[in-house]
Amino acid sequence: MAALDGLPTLRDVITRHGLDARKALGQNFLLDLNLTQKVARTAGNLEGATVFEVGPGPGGLTRAILALGARKVIAVERDPRCLPALAEIADHYPGRLEVIEGDALKTDFESLVPDDGPVKIIANLPYNVGTQLLVNWLLPNRWPPFWQSLTLMFQKEVGQRITAVEGDNHYGRLGVLCGWRTEAQRAFDVPPEAFTPPPKVTSSVVHLVPRAAPIACDPQKLEKVTQAAFGQRRKMLRQSVKSLGGEALLNRAGIDPARRAETLSVEEFCRLAAEI
Ligand code: SAM
Repeated sequence: MAALDGLPTLRDVITRHGLDARKALGQNFLLDLNLTQKVARTAGNLEGATVFEVGPGPGGLTRAILALGARKVIAVERDPRCLPALAEIADHYPGRLEVIEGDALKTDFESLVPDDGPVKIIANLPYNVGTQLLVNWLLPNRWPPFWQSLTLMFQKEVGQRITAVEGDNHYGRLGVLCGWRTEAQRAFDVPPEAFTPPPKVTSSVVHLVPRAAPIACDPQKLEKVTQAAFGQRRKMLRQSVKSLGGEALLNRAGIDPARRAETLSVEEFCRLAAEI
């Protein structure tokens, strides 16, 4: 049976194009178009938006984004086997899907930004490169960034680290970076059996919007303090940040040296970063 957008079912696409999933490319495909629509809808209204997608694969999420009215999708896919399947979608939506064959980690997304309209990033990310891509998008040359929102599928555990705040078990370097520059929410979880093939763990869709005016802070210094503090997360800060100035540094920042990394707010980490 054909899918609602008039294109063949994703199972049919995968069979016809021989897209057996490759583990090395983090290929766990979403074949349920209701679910891909739910992911795309998490990004809010797509009318008039340009969407950057990483790893469209056979195109399930791409189709949902286009069906929901995105003006254009620019998708970066590393696996050349997927290109003929994506060309069928491009034919179905003339002028609205551009596919770039390549490695998203080496792609200069900022150079692809159109002259007008918002850019949203939506992706069911390959697990091996997802966190690095997120960090790259959080540390562009200028802020506010070129994107209006990030709607991304991660392993649930990574989603928990992205959205963690002080006091949470999952709070760490990633939570501080995300909390500093964005408001991040875990939108919903997706069980392994929703994917083909199923991964070992549950996944989560995370939605991040940039803070208009994050606390002024040098990202490299912030990285240094969080690396030291969370590198020895069970120790008191006077010990864990010893190499950066220890007790004297903490006193300058007005932070009790007997505290531990996981109790510090983003604002306190920024204060520490300003003192090194
Ligand atoms: N979007 C599809 C879906 O939701 O069914 C596929 C998602 S699958 C988890 C990840 C996709 O990313 C695969 O199509 C894989 O080939 C692609 N990929 C893996 N590494 C990549 C990279 N470095 N750059 C671009 N695409 C990559």
